[in-house]
Amino acid sequence: MRLSTYFLPILKETPSEAQIASHRLMLRAGLIRQASAGIYSWLPMGFKILRKLETIVHEEQIRAGHHPMLMPTLQSADLWRESGRYDDYGQEMLRITDRHGRDMLYGPTNEELITDIFRNSVKSYKDLPLTLYHIQWKFRDEIRPRFGVMRGREFFMKDGYNFDLTKEDALHAYNRHFVSYLRTYERMGLKAIPMRADGGPIGGDYTHEFLVLADTGESEVFYDRAVTDLSFGDREVDFGDVDGLQSIYETWTTPYARTDETHDAALFDAVPEERRMTSRGIEVGQIFYFGTKYSDAMKAEVVTESGDRVPVHMGSHGIGVSRLIGAIIEASHDDNGIIWPEGVTPFHAGIVNLKQGDTDADAACDQLYKGLMARGLEPLYDDREERAGAKFATMDLIGLPWRITVGPRGLKNGVVEVTSRRTGDSENMSPEAAIDRIAQIYKGV
Ligand code: ATP
Ligand code: MG
Repeated sequence: MRLSTYFLPILKETPSEAQIASHRLMLRAGLIRQASAGIYSWLPMGFKILRKLETIVHEEQIRAGHHPMLMPTLQSADLWRESGRYDDYGQEMLRITDRHGRDMLYGPTNEELITDIFRNSVKSYKDLPLTLYHIQWKFRDEIRPRFGVMRGREFFMKDGYNFDLTKEDALHAYNRHFVSYLRTYERMGLKAIPMRADGGPIGGDYTHEFLVLADTGESEVFYDRAVTDLSFGDREVDFGDVDGLQSIYETWTTPYARTDETHDAALFDAVPEERRMTSRGIEVGQIFYFGTKYSDAMKAEVVTESGDRVPVHMGSHGIGVSRLIGAIIEASHDDNGIIWPEGVTPFHAGIVNLKQGDTDADAACDQLYKGLMARGLEPLYDDREERAGAKFATMDLIGLPWRITVGPRGLKNGVVEVTSRRTGDSENMSPEAAIDRIAQIYKGV
């Protein structure tokens, strides 16, 4: 992308309504604009990042054997009356009446709709196990939308639902989600710690929230520092291996890690003092096993091998895709701007032409631009007639992990400069070597 032709409306001033770094930086870097309270438009670069996160979520869900689909944002109130949640959900639910006077709602979540789809089509134990998910906009009329996309009213969420014959099978589905979430967050360059959580209004005995540590997080968390040393890496996972997944689950849940809702001071005190950590965290996902709560209420049953009709065991599993962008920025920024992890960056590298219009500099930038694209990468070429200082400030603000700086002086020696946004370290090399270097970095990302 050539910056001169892109739509990247950067703000010089710090927007006064933004209280936390991620909100400020998302507005300043031209990623989002507020449409109304807690509702945002996603400008081209913000939308690009949202799509990248969505793709990672899809890839990891499909890898775990879960099936993507798409349910609508608007739902009929009737299904929610059946489950009993139409009244329970309260003011957070946006209720709408259509021209025929029918009660509708903008879905805050989808247990009812998916259970209805399931019960109308699945009748036999032979069709289980089954996990369906979608990534769709949700609406919750939050009393206090704030912090930009972190606590929006309209937000983008992955929600998945497992249907199983037995509790044992459903707990395997729980573990599949647990492990696929670990992989998902790690690919996004995030450390998200699974913490034992409270069932809340959805109910359920088994539930974990995944939290990204950040001072601006809304949850208070207590954990054994040992859990932060765990990393998933690129190990192969067989999602059908019941014991294998259980053992990964146990590795991650053995160290103490809980939110304030389930915190147990006595257990926490048993953790060696130097490893006892208290902090704040941003909830970027949650998994639940809730048994037959919805299948009982909505008669989602299958016939077993012996001919009995039994309600299915279910769970629901969510990832806050739009909130994740805020969480990533909270975890990865400095005074000058965002620092995108390689796995989610909107462009792989920025090219800064220090002297636009200089024949050699223009030619070298062109060579880099085309060369990176030929390697399947997406560069952002700052080809504007701007001062070097302004170009550097823009690159720092938007946070591409790698910058290639091209100027007539370096080119006299046949070199351009490759700079890491994270460390600030620079190295001079030929344009060909710079292309190789960037391509090498993104291999396997
Ligand atoms: P919270 O406690 O933050 O209100 P929740 O527990 O009600 O969230 P879930 O029903 O677990 O939310 O939804 C799954 C995920 O969707 C959450 O883990 C979170 O990342 C995201 N999410 C929930 N509410 C919002 C919101 N208002 N804005 C942005 N993302 C949200
Ligand atoms: Mg939650």
